[in-house]
Amino acid sequence: MKKILSVFLMFLMILTLMTGCGNNNTTDNSNKDTENNEKIKMVTNAEFPPFEYFEGENIVGVDVEIAKEIAKDLGKELEVEHIDFSSVVPSVQTGKADFAAAGITITPERLEEVDFSIPYVESIQHVIYIKGQEINSLDELKGKKIGVQLGTTGDISIADNINLEDGGLYNSGAEVVQYKSPLEAAQDLIAGRIDVVVIDKLPAEEIVKNNGDKIESKILGDISESYGIAVKKGDKELLESINKTLERLISEGKIEEYIANHSE
Ligand code: GLN
Repeated sequence: MKKILSVFLMFLMILTLMTGCGNNNTTDNSNKDTENNEKIKMVTNAEFPPFEYFEGENIVGVDVEIAKEIAKDLGKELEVEHIDFSSVVPSVQTGKADFAAAGITITPERLEEVDFSIPYVESIQHVIYIKGQEINSLDELKGKKIGVQLGTTGDISIADNINLEDGGLYNSGAEVVQYKSPLEAAQDLIAGRIDVVVIDKLPAEEIVKNNGDKIESKILGDISESYGIAVKKGDKELLESINKTLERLISEGKIEEYIANHSE
């Protein structure tokens, strides 16, 4: 009898444990689900002031301000990850991140890999040079060591110009030096290891501002471009929401305000 009772008790205990666990599991899972649903992940390259840069441990900048508004409108918590610029588009393409905001120029090649939001900033390529060694045209880059950020439109346009036979820099001795960070490229320029840096207008102006009186920048040719936010191809719902947020921010003059605040 005792034996039957203890077997019964054990059975009861197991049953209670199982139901208990079951309940816990359900609670845990639902918590995880809500957690996942509440987060939205953005990737960027925080070496591109005023659009994204580190302030201590934190990533801040124009794109981060925009992303916060995107997350707010979606009712989600924003997570920002810093990666190499050349990995930003692939990250969205493979679903590692929900969107990328990194001063990304909308180009036909990138449009084959990801979808882009409406344009939110207009830019143009600049050249940074040592004060007194002014560069006035693309032609004056002949024979120069040109620093660029790997995978950027600056990199692609200069490399194309050097490699294509009808490019003005073809066979001129001009050479591209690719950097992961434009800030490193600027350090090498100041140290005399390269002659110029080709980069987008506002980051060029920020880099010049942060390097006292050593360097200057000006427009290079007429390579103008528009920035867009990238999402995975076909992610219509997210793209529509991002576009709505961008339209609102543009109409409220917020993007100019963010640029002014982060260019101080
Ligand atoms: N606008 C440039 C591009 O898309 C540079 C962007 C960047 O370096 N963050 O290639």
